[in-house]
Amino acid sequence: MNATFSDITSRIQEPPQWWDQNGTPRYGKFHPSQSPSIYSNTVALLEIECQSCRDRFVVEMHSGWFEDREFNPKKLHYGDPPNHGCVGDTMNCIDLRVLEVWHRESFSVWQRVKLLEGAMDAPQWFVPAPKSKQMTKRKRTRTRASN
Ligand SMILES: [Zn+2]
Repeated sequence: MNATFSDITSRIQEPPQWWDQNGTPRYGKFHPSQSPSIYSNTVALLEIECQSCRDRFVVEMHSGWFEDREFNPKKLHYGDPPNHGCVGDTMNCIDLRVLEVWHRESFSVWQRVKLLEGAMDAPQWFVPAPKSKQMTKRKRTRTRASN
């Protein structure tokens, strides 16, 4: 289960644009240089879904120091969703899609790798949400005021 980060969300009126690998709410437009790990050379932005309420979130994940060559974004699992005051906060999320993948060979030049983007392997127990619960591109991020 991720922390609520209510010390941050209670001070900012707008909803987070995305959450990083630590479940931290982030408010600017995503760029791989904003990954919490300055040493990662591969960064991915994923769309995940809460297993309980089926709300969707945009989350960041990144490679570790040694694992860069085996980093396959379509095999990633975010774990518990960002804390949103739901019983699903304690459940593993459903990983849906790789929205963006970025890689760098030099420290400051990021290149997008669209070949690694797309649908992720859904777990066997996964039942897609009804169309009415699926979010449009405009509604992709979700917030709930933390208590
Ligand atoms: Zn939920």
